[in-house]
Amino acid sequence: MLRQTLSAMFIAFAALCLQSFTLVIDAGHGGKDPGALGRRGKEKNINLAVAKALGQLVESNMPDVKVVYTRKSDVFVELDERARIANRAKADLFVSIHTNALPGRAQGRGSETYTLGMHRAADNLAVAKRENSVITLERDYESRYEGFDPSSAESYIIFELMQDVNMQQSVRLAQLVQRQLRAAGRPDKGVHQAGFLVLRATSMPSCLIELGYITTPAEEDYLLSDAGTRQLAKAIYEAIRQYKN
Ligand SMILES: [Zn+2]
Repeated sequence: MLRQTLSAMFIAFAALCLQSFTLVIDAGHGGKDPGALGRRGKEKNINLAVAKALGQLVESNMPDVKVVYTRKSDVFVELDERARIANRAKADLFVSIHTNALPGRAQGRGSETYTLGMHRAADNLAVAKRENSVITLERDYESRYEGFDPSSAESYIIFELMQDVNMQQSVRLAQLVQRQLRAAGRPDKGVHQAGFLVLRATSMPSCLIELGYITTPAEEDYLLSDAGTRQLAKAIYEAIRQYKN
């Protein structure tokens, strides 16, 4: 009996030691923050479904990878807490999952992946502003984010002064994600840089994926389908596997 207990303990210990790589999966939005809205879907639910499917794929196929989620249910998590979870876990990789939206009747199709960087293009600034605006739902956001105003272009200039040592690896990861999504048949909206608060505070390679457009009916149907969830999760999983190897 003691021998069995000891060998069970040894196996558990060995499995822990094998987990030499920590992946943080961040499902964007949640709780009181629904994110972008479609006709019938909410961004927060799409992000969570893909995040969980991705985590399951990694957990069952990559035993050396420890998966940490910033949320596993419909709860509100502040942006800087998401980054703190990753930093505390000493994560090797941070992947934030989001769903895109366009104003009015504008139609968009496809997936795009962002790394932290300068907001040279006005449309990148629009995406960053929308994803960052959640902080206005948080308490004391002005002091906690050092006066950062998510709606002001000037606030984003600070990003130009910040050196991202993980930039090259982040861009490599983003390229792999886009390649896999393209192989899965998603229109390729490319790799971009923008000033996302959730990426700014993480101290490891990171990217933010916009899965597709919830405001385009055909895209929303795909994003809400089980097949869509599985396909998107599989593509991101393949990219992470390639990145790690
Ligand atoms: Zn979002």
